Amino acid sequence: MRQPIIAGNWKMHKTVAEALAFVEAIKPELAGATAAETVICAPFTALASLAEAVKGTPIRIGAQDLFWEEQGAYTGEISPLMLKELGVSYVIVGHSERRQYFAETDETVNKKVKAALKHGLVPIVCVGETLEQREAGETFQVVEQQTRLGLAGLTAEQVAGLVIAYEPVWAIGTGRTATDADAEEVIAYIRGVVNDLFGAEAAERVRIQYGGSVKPDNIAGLLAQPNIDGALVGGASLDPVSFIALVRR
Ligand code: 13P
Repeated sequence: MRQPIIAGNWKMHKTVAEALAFVEAIKPELAGATAAETVICAPFTALASLAEAVKGTPIRIGAQDLFWEEQGAYTGEISPLMLKELGVSYVIVGHSERRQYFAETDETVNKKVKAALKHGLVPIVCVGETLEQREAGETFQVVEQQTRLGLAGLTAEQVAGLVIAYEPVWAIGTGRTATDADAEEVIAYIRGVVNDLFGAEAAERVRIQYGGSVKPDNIAGLLAQPNIDGALVGGASLDPVSFIALVRR
């Protein structure tokens, strides 16, 4: 059985003080055992304080990006070693905003996924089509290519242990969620791609989240789908009350 994983992606929100206030607000509700694994993906600046604040709880901390080299002359970048030292467990790789605004490609995603795995960080690898691609009937082709290239060169065991997030770009921050059936169809397809590339065991074990306008009132239907193993949540993860409602359904 795959344990569902609910990850908040705060994007470029919250100072250190705000991040700590959030954790104090959710701790009474989420510091015990929950059915779903809970992850907060915060800006780099808040990671050290957050990792310290959640010590002794099952809440895990994630970064939103990383660079693939361990150190060097790469002004502004953050390496997997630096994240690992802070107690970070997860790292989002290839979010559509990074693909769109920061020239992330399937090749750079692949380098980052490998670097994360090498240092014991679990990558949350994002895939998803734009509205234009969906309307052109290219959804399956796009997610297949992003999955194939993003995971290229990994072992079946590595793939089994990572997380894939299917986030249709047209559903991000728009209030327009994919229907439960649409999300399930694409996620089942992605699981099939993993099966073809890495075998049945990896496909059975890899967790695949849905992301895009997930809210407390639509998460239950999505998670009831057999192939959807959790959610990657932007806007609704910023408020403690709404985040608690997403995790404890
Ligand atoms: P929203 O939940 O705000 O639509 O964002 C989704 C997302 O991009 C999570 O990574």
